[in-house]
Amino acid sequence: MQQADGSVVPVELKSGRAPDEPWEGHVLQLAAYCLLVDETYGVRPAFGILQYKDKAFAIDYSDSLEEDLLDLLAEMRESQYEGELDRDHNEWQRCNGCSVRRYCQQRLA
Ligand code: SF4
Repeated sequence: MQQADGSVVPVELKSGRAPDEPWEGHVLQLAAYCLLVDETYGVRPAFGILQYKDKAFAIDYSDSLEEDLLDLLAEMRESQYEGELDRDHNEWQRCNGCSVRRYCQQRLA
């Protein structure tokens, strides 16, 4: 979602009802979108929005969240390199909608 001032706010839509606190996996997925926006547009989002069916959370794209994401991506890469983490499906649609497919060596789309 592009703002009038040129900033970009990633919005991740979830079809389910909101938990009390956003799931860590959802937060990291949103962080991946923030990273992609930063890399693609050269504009670092200050925050992103996790929109559940009944509630939305604004999540700060903080340095520590970015660090958590980069650690996770590094772990995934390492695990794939070591053959420890294999794709467990053959659905290109899943890969097509996956927030980390850009970094995944086993993507189908
Ligand atoms: S791109 Fe596909 S295989 Fe890779 S993590 Fe995403 S869903 Fe899994």
